[in-house]
Amino acid sequence: IERLDDDNLQRIIASYNQDEDNINVVVRVRPLSDKEIKAGDDMVVQFPGNGQVMVDAIPGGPGGGQKARLFSYNVVFEPAATQEDVLQYSGMKRLIEMAVEGFRCTCFCYGQTGSGKTHTLTGPPGLAVPYSDDHGLVFRSFVYLFQLLQEHTGRTFVLKASFLEIYNEKVIDLLNPGTCRKPLAVRWSKKARGFFVENLFTVDCEELDDLMAVLEEGIRNRSVGRHNMNDYSSRSHTILSVHITSEEPSENGVFISRFGKINFVDLAGSEMTKKTQSEGKTLEEANNINKSLMVLGYCIASLSDPKRKGTHIPYRDSKLTKLLADSLAGNGVTLMIACISPARSNIFETINTLRYAARAKKIRTKPVVLMDPREALIISLKREVASLQSENEYL
Ligand code: ADP
Ligand code: MG
Repeated sequence: IERLDDDNLQRIIASYNQDEDNINVVVRVRPLSDKEIKAGDDMVVQFPGNGQVMVDAIPGGPGGGQKARLFSYNVVFEPAATQEDVLQYSGMKRLIEMAVEGFRCTCFCYGQTGSGKTHTLTGPPGLAVPYSDDHGLVFRSFVYLFQLLQEHTGRTFVLKASFLEIYNEKVIDLLNPGTCRKPLAVRWSKKARGFFVENLFTVDCEELDDLMAVLEEGIRNRSVGRHNMNDYSSRSHTILSVHITSEEPSENGVFISRFGKINFVDLAGSEMTKKTQSEGKTLEEANNINKSLMVLGYCIASLSDPKRKGTHIPYRDSKLTKLLADSLAGNGVTLMIACISPARSNIFETINTLRYAARAKKIRTKPVVLMDPREALIISLKREVASLQSENEYL
């Protein structure tokens, strides 16, 4: 994959609808895979700019006969975007800054299996050293976090990390092989200011390498004894949390304490929600995943919609939302990365993901500043065509 050239990069930046809201929704489109290219699969998504994605019309046939659609988000990462672009332009850096200031923040990747969730968060397997361009958002966030900590010379920081997996509504500790596979209880306590996982292992992290070790250990434990890792990971959610506690002396000798936290969530494959014809255990799994993703959807929609303020949010309906409740319900900041495939063969799942992401936050697109007037004209003509053709559901 080529590095974005300057023009393309300018387009991403110009289309950066990033605002000061407590939720940002971005889309990342992976490149066509070699397999898809060999099979003659083609791209069905286009990028009119200004944080928008357009999906081709679906020709007739079952479920087909639909018009092209245009969706708007804070930012759209085209297939050529790099892992570093995602750190720089997704709003992730703001989440880390807020977490250092004592807020509870969550970044999660949503999308069908194979759409690039794990690639975006952690990168390819065996990521340890040496540093590579493929390193994902988690590693890059850790690096940025330590940069920030060094700038706050007046404060003392304590970092602790935990890594868990939710499989079929059971919480499994990915850092403690002793209790690994033995489900842990989720409880509520006033002292913990919300839900917490009983006996969850937390690791003190003094350096970047310690955080990296947590990431690697968790990934390793997750795959132990799994014959088909991809099949398995499509059915479970993982949450890697970094607690950032700090103390700072104030004028009158009293210490100011801050309790920030950042969660990185790799969600179960969104396609699982429709596999309801399956039976027995798989049906139970599908229902659990369905429920947790649905409740998560409600929770984040309520973050951005003032009309929903005060309405009942069913956080308690799934382990996933219980554990994220403190950052979703409180005054934290959330980043949703919706991952999609550009391939025609995935068009239905792609539309489902784009809809889910659009429901999470209704975004009004702002006028875009473009560098090259000729390109601007082409894009605006394209957009006009697009809006004439599209259902334009979410604007
Ligand atoms: P998911 O976690 O959503 O199931 P993965 O992250 O495992 O999907 O991605 C599926 C495949 O696509 C992997 O082989 C991964 O390396 C590749 N891939 C995903 N996103 C990208 C990207 N942006 N650039 C290059 N390859 C990607
Ligand atoms: Mg994955």
